[in-house]
Amino acid sequence: MTAFASLGSGSRGNATCVRMGDALLLVDCGFSLRQAEIRLERLGVHAADIDAILVTHEHSDHASGVPALAARYGIEVHATHGTLRCFAPELLAGMPVGTTVRGGHPFTLKGVEVMPVTVPHDAREPVQFVFRYGGCRIGVISDLGCPTPHVLDHYRGCHGLFLESNHDREMLMRGSYPPRLKRRIAGDLGHLSNGQAGEFLGAVAIPEMDVVIGHVSERNNHPDLLEETFGGWRGRVRSLGYATQREGAPWTVVGTGAGEAGETGEARGSAMPALQLAARDGRPRQGAGGVPGQPVE
Ligand SMILES: [Zn+2]
Ligand SMILES: [Zn+2]
Repeated sequence: MTAFASLGSGSRGNATCVRMGDALLLVDCGFSLRQAEIRLERLGVHAADIDAILVTHEHSDHASGVPALAARYGIEVHATHGTLRCFAPELLAGMPVGTTVRGGHPFTLKGVEVMPVTVPHDAREPVQFVFRYGGCRIGVISDLGCPTPHVLDHYRGCHGLFLESNHDREMLMRGSYPPRLKRRIAGDLGHLSNGQAGEFLGAVAIPEMDVVIGHVSERNNHPDLLEETFGGWRGRVRSLGYATQREGAPWTVVGTGAGEAGETGEARGSAMPALQLAARDGRPRQGAGGVPGQPVE
């Protein structure tokens, strides 16, 4: 089965599972060990079955849970030199480290070709990943300051796409964040707005693509606005769904044509959990779950 799923996505923690051939790969882990175990179980995965953890960058919503998970289950961690250097030495010493990732230099994990894509984002040496197995490609892009030709080239025509759509620009600018933080999020090294994510999808989409939208701000976005941006893609791509902070997104089976979703009983980009986001005026909504983290988006 070729599929991907989210353990949860947003400014309070991200992790994405990619299953291709015999390989089960985890991109990032911004959750505590216990939370990661619970969320993996929800996807029918035991942490011990993960073959490798790939870390996109050192921001805590992506990397904070990596050392504990890697150490507990002996899972190799693959990250760029810049990202690895951000782990405290005692944590780094406790986790198995695999390939030192270099942007633009593909490597292979259990038969899956991993392409690290250099991205504009305000971290030491950030990359995002495109995975290829057989004729199928899954692209994960969770933190992107702006769509660049280089990035679009790598993600064009993927069969599975996990794409950030962080904020509505107007909600962000009208909202309560300090001006500096607003500038950071909206800047070219921050995060994609809905408008930018819509442009991104427009540049890379193919009819065979399964799309999951993630890293959605709980304060500066709204399901109606996401639907305004992406709803029109239903019917033009194979499936479209949303990943939430609390529930993530279930397995989306990718790129095999009709039949496999039924055979495996897996979701195919449907049955997504309801979004728990801010009210449209920017006030946090009741029941958004958990404690508010640092407003890093
Ligand atoms: Zn980040
Ligand atoms: Zn992030």
